[in-house]
Amino acid sequence: MEDKSKKQEELASQLNNRLLQQLEENIKLIEELESQRDFNNTLIQSTSVFFVAIEANGKLLMMNDPMLKALGYTKKEVLGKDYLTTFVPTNERNKLSKIFEKLSRLHQRTFNENHVLAKDGRLLLVEWHGAPILKGKEFDYFIGLGIDITERKQAEDKIRESQQRLSSHLHNTPLGAIFWDVDFKVTDWNNSAKKIFGYSKEEALGKHANELIIPKEIQVQIENVFNHLLTQTGGEKITNENITKEGKRILCDWYNDVLTDLNGKVTGVASLIDDITDKKKMTTELIKAKEKAEELHKLKSNFLSNMSHELRTPMVGILGFIEILENEIEKPELQKYATFIHEAGNRLMESLNLILNLTKIETKKMSIELSKIDVIKNIKKTKSTFDKMAADKNIYLIFESTVEQLEAETDEKMFDQIINNLVNNAVKFTEKGGVTVSVNKIRNKSYLEIKVKDTGIGIPKDKQEIIWEEFRQVSEGTERVFEGIGLGLTITNNFVNQLGGEIKLKSELGKGSTFAVLLPIREKSISTKTKEPAFDKITETPKTKDRQEELKTLLYFEDDMISREVIHLFLRGRYKVECVISGEEGIEKAKEKKYDGILMNINLQSKMTGITAAEKIKEMEEYKDVPIIAVTAYAMFGDREKYLKAGFTNYISKPFSKNDIIELLDNFWE
Ligand code: ADP
Repeated sequence: MEDKSKKQEELASQLNNRLLQQLEENIKLIEELESQRDFNNTLIQSTSVFFVAIEANGKLLMMNDPMLKALGYTKKEVLGKDYLTTFVPTNERNKLSKIFEKLSRLHQRTFNENHVLAKDGRLLLVEWHGAPILKGKEFDYFIGLGIDITERKQAEDKIRESQQRLSSHLHNTPLGAIFWDVDFKVTDWNNSAKKIFGYSKEEALGKHANELIIPKEIQVQIENVFNHLLTQTGGEKITNENITKEGKRILCDWYNDVLTDLNGKVTGVASLIDDITDKKKMTTELIKAKEKAEELHKLKSNFLSNMSHELRTPMVGILGFIEILENEIEKPELQKYATFIHEAGNRLMESLNLILNLTKIETKKMSIELSKIDVIKNIKKTKSTFDKMAADKNIYLIFESTVEQLEAETDEKMFDQIINNLVNNAVKFTEKGGVTVSVNKIRNKSYLEIKVKDTGIGIPKDKQEIIWEEFRQVSEGTERVFEGIGLGLTITNNFVNQLGGEIKLKSELGKGSTFAVLLPIREKSISTKTKEPAFDKITETPKTKDRQEELKTLLYFEDDMISREVIHLFLRGRYKVECVISGEEGIEKAKEKKYDGILMNINLQSKMTGITAAEKIKEMEEYKDVPIIAVTAYAMFGDREKYLKAGFTNYISKPFSKNDIIELLDNFWE
């Protein structure tokens, strides 16, 4: 019993001792923690560094304020929590528990990067330095010092990504990319640089530019450029010849940029190179081809202009004599032949006129002469010249208008030509049914709309664009079915545009076409209702009352024998004509005797042109009021204006009909 109580006493005292020891340890721990708290408050809490203390069993002993704040927790919420399951994403727990083991079992320091889970589920990337805290030789707990590298990592990722992209661009670009150090030696060389210059990267690295690709004669110049780059005083864009590994000369565009370090110190140059040898060659060829085309175009215009001029003079003979023959011949069959020749001649004239107009348009020598005209009268007149053609084809050709008279200010010649071309085509391309020409006022009555509608062959959709181009037709080449030279619509379109209008086409294959021309009326500027006389100066010319008594005498300056003959025949019985073949001769004659009128060919084959001769005659006192009429094969739009300016009273173009010349002359004296 005594023994038993002794044993109990011993046990109690042992227990007491252990309790005391434990208490002491706890107090120590508390004291340590207390001093640690001071430490926290001073150092740990005032940095942005994360700080944790963790027990061997993984329980969180302590977390500093910056980390709590970053994770969105309060101290209460985290103390005593199992660190791995609370703050580490599942997929990283394994890795981290091995690190914890290193710290707690092997007492090793650790360095690692891992994600920390915030309260709201965000993940922060933290770089950790771990250290075991020993008590004597025993492990007590470990601490972790962490730096939040989330943003830095993101920035690094971005830099890495853009570096990758850049290097992929440099790798794949068709431009050569070369990097140089400050001594002009290669530090990098992409695939395209290899393709352009022939050297592989290995061959090029470390080599000076002069050893590789700079031709001898420009080495000094290029080094200067390089120095400009290094001193940042230019050289960013340069084009120069280079030489390839095979010794071939090539032309390159260089785009250069200096490379600097963080302190702004120049560390080298980056160059992008475009091999423009082929491009340059192609451009040169294109320029040459363009110049050639322009030259040919000019030649074509000159040729067409000369040709039509040259053809006009003989046409005076053909059309003039045939007109006389038509009247003189009595045998009906021969008369028919004469009519054929006349018609063929007229067609040839049409073509010549079109060509002349085209050259005039192309050389921009066309000027608009506005006058007031009654469009109804002009359309009717033009239309009537096709009545016979329509009747021969057995188709109708009608004109419709709701008004009797419709005045507009426009260029009469252009206007007539527009109507002529459209009606001509409509009749030409219609085999059954017919053609209706109509006129209306539209757009607040400020525009004329002239429609030429036919029931002809129509124009296929895919050709409706090209027919406006010069010489283009729906059926072209040797297979073409219809006559014509493909200029009518080109000229029509140009005239309509020059007159401030527009032209529209609606057409269906096999059913017919409608061309609608819109032209401004310009009514406001119309002051009189009557049409102006065709030639302004005619009225100023004194009129002789009694024509019957004595024929007027004309002096005709003409070097072409046939034209002289034709004029004689045309004016027989109405005017007395005397001819001279040169300017000089004519002036002498005019001095000897006063003529009532002068007819003047412009292109006289003598030193003196018709224009000079006319000026000289005008200078003579007695010829002040005598009409001088230009008779010329220079018969383009705007020429009349030119001759009137040069002092001529009027102008008639070759070839002319008997009626044309008589009407013109009679105007002076009737
Ligand atoms: P050309 O009549 O001398 O051939 P154009 O320039 O006047 O020249 O016309 C060009 C082409 O447009 C014609 O060849 C023809 O194919 C087509 N064309 C013009 N007008 C008509 C129309 N009224 N009906 C059918 N085709 C037309």
